Amino acid sequence: MALNVLVVDDSAVMRAMIIKTLGMAGIPVGEVHQAANGQEGLDALGEHWIDLGIVDINMPVMDGEEMIQRMQADPNVAEIPVIVVSTEGSETRINRLVQIGAKFIHKPFAPETLRDIVAEITGVTDNGQRA
Ligand SMILES: [Mg+2]
Repeated sequence: MALNVLVVDDSAVMRAMIIKTLGMAGIPVGEVHQAANGQEGLDALGEHWIDLGIVDINMPVMDGEEMIQRMQADPNVAEIPVIVVSTEGSETRINRLVQIGAKFIHKPFAPETLRDIVAEITGVTDNGQRA
């Protein structure tokens, strides 16, 4: 089973790095969609079947926190697992995101960290099997 992934980050370099890291971690990736802010991310969720969202917090137009809150309010996408990848240092903000169900990874991160969290929240391991 391959995961269709939506990567939302205002840095194109960071998006490319996350996508490369998914490959390095051995995660079976199907379609990869990219968005540069939360609004584009929500638009992409409306247009494509997405199995996993990887979302930055600090972005223009709409930040990751608002995007995730809006996802939670939409039954069509509320169940999609989300990993927040950010340099965010505010414990309050991180806790808020964790409380609504997101996983948090600090930038920079090791491929293994991403692999382990993807396996934990999607059940898909690095050989493509359901855990
Ligand atoms: Mg950012």
